[in-house]
Amino acid sequence: MKTIGIIGGMSYESSIHYYERINDQVNKIMGGLTCAKLLIYNVNFEEIRKLMLENKWSEIGVELAKIAKTLENAGADYIVIATNTMHKLADYIQNQIRIPLIHIADCVSDKCKENNTFNVGLLGTKYTMTEDFLVKRLKQNGLTVTTPKDEDSINEIDRIIFDELCKGEIKNSSKDYYIDVINNMIKENGINGIILGCTEIEMLIKPEDINIPIFDTTQSHIDSIVGYSIEKDNK
Ligand code: GLU
Repeated sequence: MKTIGIIGGMSYESSIHYYERINDQVNKIMGGLTCAKLLIYNVNFEEIRKLMLENKWSEIGVELAKIAKTLENAGADYIVIATNTMHKLADYIQNQIRIPLIHIADCVSDKCKENNTFNVGLLGTKYTMTEDFLVKRLKQNGLTVTTPKDEDSINEIDRIIFDELCKGEIKNSSKDYYIDVINNMIKENGINGIILGCTEIEMLIKPEDINIPIFDTTQSHIDSIVGYSIEKDNK
């Protein structure tokens, strides 16, 4: 069994799901008392968030690469970054380590393709929706990707993530807001799947809320991580 190295804490609300479900899924497959071999380096997200708001991405990159190296030196066989947004720095981090980084966009693309869904909407933080680091990777995987374009919507989707979901707050008004945005993309852009491209959105939006399939990056990432850890899915 391989040892997983997780860069977590962004937010810890979603890292909990990684920890719980990776162990649970590994145990269901392997039985007995088997659980995952994993290392989590939980960052203090408050410090990282400050750097994000000050646009100091190279400082965040240096910090996360240092953590990836720490996990590598501690025995991790591969690295995962348990947040979509920090995949903005994935190439930089990968270049600083010798072990592979399992990219969240590849994991969710595989799920879309398995479901024959190629025209997808993407929701996430403002960075994820307006920059190309995730969209480009999804497109390289053969998907057509639509993101909300209206600035007020982008800001509100982002605000709900950081002010509510990252603090574990689930509000019906926010759920309704996300559902409206998704339904609008179905109507205007003809999307036939929606990628929840932020590791906390699955806490708010469930498959039964929407008429098209939902592709959750958290669960897709977890499924691949489990596959790699038990060496059954070394795609
Ligand atoms: N967990 C979120 C994501 O998947 C946002 C937190 C962050 O900025 O890293 O993008």
